[in-house]
Amino acid sequence: MKGTEGGRSRCVALDGTIGRAAACTIYPQRPSPCRELEPATAARPSAQCDRARLAHGLAPLSERDWAPELTAPA
Ligand code: SF4
Repeated sequence: MKGTEGGRSRCVALDGTIGRAAACTIYPQRPSPCRELEPATAARPSAQCDRARLAHGLAPLSERDWAPELTAPA
């Protein structure tokens, strides 16, 4: 989580481009706060996840994000 304190909002362990493709480079060894965070799912939105998305200029997750094949034009 280094890099998330002091007003910076990007962890040094995060690799990639936020909003396109990003991943934790230490996922198996991630710290306890990361392990304890409940990720968003289609059935259970995450306020923390949505706040993080907003901080990076992304819209909150919606039903459309979970089932794009159901909402794509035919
Ligand atoms: S899950 Fe990984 S990239 Fe995300 S905050 Fe934790 S250590 Fe950083």
